[in-house]
Amino acid sequence: MSERDLLMIPGPINFDPGVLRALGAPTAGHTAPEFVALFSQTLDMVRKVFLAPNGMPFVLAGSGTLAMDTAVCNMIEPGDRALVIATGYFSDRMATILERYGAEVTIARADVGDVVPLDRVEAELKRVKPKMMTLTHVDTSTGVAVDVHALAQLGRAHNALVIVDGVCSVAGMELRQEEWDVDIVLTASQKAIGVPPGLALLVVSARALEMFKARKKPVLSYYSDWANWLPVMQAYDARKPAYFGTPAVKLVYALHESLRQIIAEGMDERIARHKKISDAFKAGIRALGLKQVPVRAEIAATTMTAPYLPDGIDAKLIGKIREYGVVVAGGLHPAIREKYFRVGHMGVVSFADIHATLSAIDRALRDLGYRASATLGAPEKL
Ligand SMILES: *Cc1c(COP(=O)(O)O)cnc(C)c1O
Repeated sequence: MSERDLLMIPGPINFDPGVLRALGAPTAGHTAPEFVALFSQTLDMVRKVFLAPNGMPFVLAGSGTLAMDTAVCNMIEPGDRALVIATGYFSDRMATILERYGAEVTIARADVGDVVPLDRVEAELKRVKPKMMTLTHVDTSTGVAVDVHALAQLGRAHNALVIVDGVCSVAGMELRQEEWDVDIVLTASQKAIGVPPGLALLVVSARALEMFKARKKPVLSYYSDWANWLPVMQAYDARKPAYFGTPAVKLVYALHESLRQIIAEGMDERIARHKKISDAFKAGIRALGLKQVPVRAEIAATTMTAPYLPDGIDAKLIGKIREYGVVVAGGLHPAIREKYFRVGHMGVVSFADIHATLSAIDRALRDLGYRASATLGAPEKL
């Protein structure tokens, strides 16, 4: 990849130069007063970005999968029932993690490109009576976004803890953790948060922490155990040094800078910008005559787009697009893997970036002999 190539995959994303410069700052020790102060500010900013002013943030060295693993292993005791609302590959991963820690898992599965209807979720909550329900806000394998607010209300009404995998949505789509009463929201640094890969972020409600403290059996992961991490995060919160495992000091500097930028933009403004960019990109994809995986416009994510390959064009298209200087991602959902591709548009993405991407897709399609059909592309259709 050339330094001038445009990275348009659903994470890692293109990083802001200021965030990358923060990585180059001299390395402080993890107990140095300046790092403790910076980590403390970072935790406060995490609360702001998750819209969870009273939540308990955890910032751990690891990827998004560690954030999923951490949420599950601290909440689940063997034999607990869990309901997974499955909209793709990452929801299935959550189910696998739940099973690994001994949960009895029920999966409510959507058709590919669709969501699970609310009445079916309610019926499953009544039937299963789960301790915990998990949602994938945006399943990056389909580009489908679920209605977190409505699902969380249902989950809470049936007394289930609500865990949201927000890896492809936090800081890009509306997710009001506290107002919507979500117990755990988790993400990774390299997606809409805009920091190189390597940090797992979670914000946990007071209710979930109480349930953690009332556990009868120890957490089955040593590294992820909140008994180890909670005192450390609370100490940093109070601007005191603490140690369990060395934090990813450099990445925390970068996270501080990225969160500062996100908050300076304003959460509402940022969410609106992602929607505008997504609308424009999706309109361009329709104009090229390509259909999308989400079956209705209302359930399409605004952080990414998942276009189907047109008839007669295969995944070679992705390599062709790259020849025009733009990197997009291949399919991930096992049922349709060879039939579609994925484009991320989160973080510092601009209109110039999506125009360059559309133009590269257009040229690559033409190179492969495709001519856009003038009859496709009605704006109300995906
Ligand atoms: C990327 C992603 C993950 C996994 O994150 P990693 O950092 O790759 O471990 C989990 N869930 C969703 C929705 C994602 O988009």
